[in-house]
Amino acid sequence: MKTPEPDYASYQLEELFEAYASINRERFPERFQTIKDAIAAKQKGNYRCCKCDCGAYEASRLYTTTDRLVSREPGRFIAVSCIECGYTEFYRSHKSALSELVDFFIN
Ligand SMILES: [Zn+2]
Repeated sequence: MKTPEPDYASYQLEELFEAYASINRERFPERFQTIKDAIAAKQKGNYRCCKCDCGAYEASRLYTTTDRLVSREPGRFIAVSCIECGYTEFYRSHKSALSELVDFFIN
């Protein structure tokens, strides 16, 4: 008996991440791929991992109290991680540019 395929296209991004984290990828390799594609589609294809060519990412905001390397100002970063291989890029930004980056990577 075959269980019906979940309609991943109608999922919210957070639900897709949950499905991505919980799915048994050995048992459902096609479904796993569908989830990845659905995440990448939701992210409008504006990312491509330079290591494994995956099109889906997770982004998070990082703040440091002091950015010792560059200035005495608090550091603001966005970490963008490939959900496939975990390769992470950091974007350092000033306040104004950061909000653009946030719009770009974090909906
Ligand atoms: Zn990757």
